[in-house]
Amino acid sequence: MNGFPSIRIGHGYDSHRFDPSRPLKLGGVAIPGEQGLAGHSDADVLLHAIIDAMLGALALGDIGGHFPDTDPRWKGADSSELLRLAVRDVWAAGYVLGNLDATVICERPRLKPHVAAIRTRLSSLLEVPLERISVKGKTNEGMDAVGEGKGIAVHCVALLTVRGPA
Ligand code: MG
Repeated sequence: MNGFPSIRIGHGYDSHRFDPSRPLKLGGVAIPGEQGLAGHSDADVLLHAIIDAMLGALALGDIGGHFPDTDPRWKGADSSELLRLAVRDVWAAGYVLGNLDATVICERPRLKPHVAAIRTRLSSLLEVPLERISVKGKTNEGMDAVGEGKGIAVHCVALLTVRGPA
């Protein structure tokens, strides 16, 4: 591609505060019995960070620019649908997702019991093999607002590679 390397890296970050009146969704998976997150859409903080990582790799702006929270179309939106639209942008630009690595930071829920289901769901939504999807859970050791249990934060990096011939 114009002599530039055919790989691009992007970083995504998102955080949402807890809202106990809402259900929790992480990576497109419903996590029962836990506080949900406040937000205009379904507030799936993991999917939002993944979308920002992919858009960032292509220098296409961010999730807020693509799906503004002032637009009633995205009120209560299923973030899986937003992710699908972002994947379409990646393909339209001639790239595919090579791999991604996400770190979910929260005191609750404990992520480990849900990691397998979340990776499987992401693999399906992103149409990328499971072994290319990494999701890791950490606590913030009681530090800062996330450590005080006020919400969930996610960091994600995504590598995109030029799509080969079909
Ligand atoms: Mg968000």
